[in-house]
Amino acid sequence: MDTLIISVSGVRGIVGESFHPSLLTRFAIALGTFAKSGKVVLGRDSRTSGEMARHALLSGLIATGCEVVDVGICPTPTILLRAKNLQADGSITITASHNPIEWNGIEFAVSCGSLLNPEQSAELMRIYESGEDKLMPQDKLGSVKQDDTAVERHIAKILSLPYIDVRLIKSRRLKVVIDCCNGAGSVISPKLLRQLGCEVIELGCHPNGKFPRHPEPAPEHLSQLCELVRMRDADIGFAHDSDADRLAIVSDKAEAISNEYTFVLASDFILSKQKGPVVATSSTSMMMDYIARKWDVPLYRTKVGVGNVVGKMQKVNAVVGGEGTGGVIFPEIHHTTDGITTLAVIIQQLAECGATISELVSEIPKYSIIKKKIEISNQQLADDLMQKAAQYFADENPDLTDGVKIIGKDSWVNIRKSGTEPVIRVFSEARTTEEAGKLCDSTIKIIQSWMG
Ligand code: MG
Repeated sequence: MDTLIISVSGVRGIVGESFHPSLLTRFAIALGTFAKSGKVVLGRDSRTSGEMARHALLSGLIATGCEVVDVGICPTPTILLRAKNLQADGSITITASHNPIEWNGIEFAVSCGSLLNPEQSAELMRIYESGEDKLMPQDKLGSVKQDDTAVERHIAKILSLPYIDVRLIKSRRLKVVIDCCNGAGSVISPKLLRQLGCEVIELGCHPNGKFPRHPEPAPEHLSQLCELVRMRDADIGFAHDSDADRLAIVSDKAEAISNEYTFVLASDFILSKQKGPVVATSSTSMMMDYIARKWDVPLYRTKVGVGNVVGKMQKVNAVVGGEGTGGVIFPEIHHTTDGITTLAVIIQQLAECGATISELVSEIPKYSIIKKKIEISNQQLADDLMQKAAQYFADENPDLTDGVKIIGKDSWVNIRKSGTEPVIRVFSEARTTEEAGKLCDSTIKIIQSWMG
C-alpha cells in the first residue's frame, strides 16, 4: 500500500518507506522556488526521524538560495508565530501531528504564518510536479541560522494577552498535570504553566520523541494522565499531540472529557471578553450552537480542515475558531490552531470563575458524537455514493457544506468522503451516545444497501 499522503497542508508518510529524503529535498526545492529564495523558518516536533528530515529539507532550501532560520524542536504554533514575527516568506514544520511514531510529515506555511490556502497549495504542487526549480549557482546558495528564541517569544505573546491575569492565576494556586507525550509541547507548556504560577506536575515532558502513549490526545489514550490527576488530586490535566497544536482536558474528577470541550470552553471564555463571529467545522459539536446562542453571536461552519476554518475566520473577522479535535485558533496571536494559548485561556477561565473544570463542563448541554467509516474500494464508488446520498436525503433539506449533513432538532448526521483514505465517514451527534449510535448505524445501513 502506498502510505504517502499529499494534502493541502503538506505531506505525510512512513519513515523507512514513503517518507523518503529525496522526496523531502524535492519539496524543499519547490518551496524555496515558491518563496523566491527568501527567508524560510524551519522547525520540528520531537520525532526521532525529524533530524533526518531536517537535513534533507535544508539541502533543498540552501540549494534554492533561501535564508533558513532553524528554530529546532518547537510546537507547530510556536514555529508559525516565529515565521509571522520574522515576516518570513515561508515555513516548513516537520511533524506528523497526532499520527503514530512510525509516521512523519512536513507542513508548509506562507508569509503570514498561516498554512497554505488551496490556491497557494496548488501553486506549490505545480512547481513540485513541473520541476521548475530555481537552483542557485555557487555564489548565491542559501544559509542557515539557528534561532532559540521562538519559545520565549510565544510565551511573552500569550502573557501579553489583555485577558491573561497572572496575579489572579497565581492567587488560585492551581495544581496542573501536563502530558506532552514527550513531544514538542515539552519545551514550552510546563514552562508557561510555571510562569502562570501553577503548581506543575509533568508527564512525558522530555522532547525525546519516545511517545509513551498514542500521540492523539483522545480520551482513550489518556489513562495515565487521568491516573496522575487522581493520585495527585490535581485541579486539571492537559494533554497535547506531538506538535502541541491541540489540547485535551482531564477534569478534576480524573475523567478525560471529549476533545470537543476544548473549543467549546475556550470560545465561551473568549466571547465573555469580546463578542464577535465564531467559526467551526461542519462536524464540530452542537455545543458550539449553544455557545453562539448564549453570547448572541453568529456561528459559521466550514468544511473540515484548519485551512478552511482560518480562511473563513479572516473573511468574517472572527474572534475565535476551531475544530472538535481540540484545536483552537486565537486571531489575537495568529491564525493557526494553538494548544499552548488554549492552555493559558482555560487556566485563566478556571482562575476567574472559581469553579472546578467539571462544574464548568456540567453547565453546558451534553451531546455525544459517534464517528464511523465505511471502507470503499475506489474513489469513483465513493463519488457515486455521495451523489446518491445527496439525492436520497434531498427532501430533508441537507446542509452541503461538507458532504451531506442532515440536521434534526437535537441531532445531526454527516456523510462525507475522506480526502486522505478510501473511506466514507459517517459522523452523528445526539443528546445521548445511544441515540447518536442509532442514527449513525441506520445511516450506514442505508449507504451499504446501495453498495449491494
Ligand atoms: Mg497537531
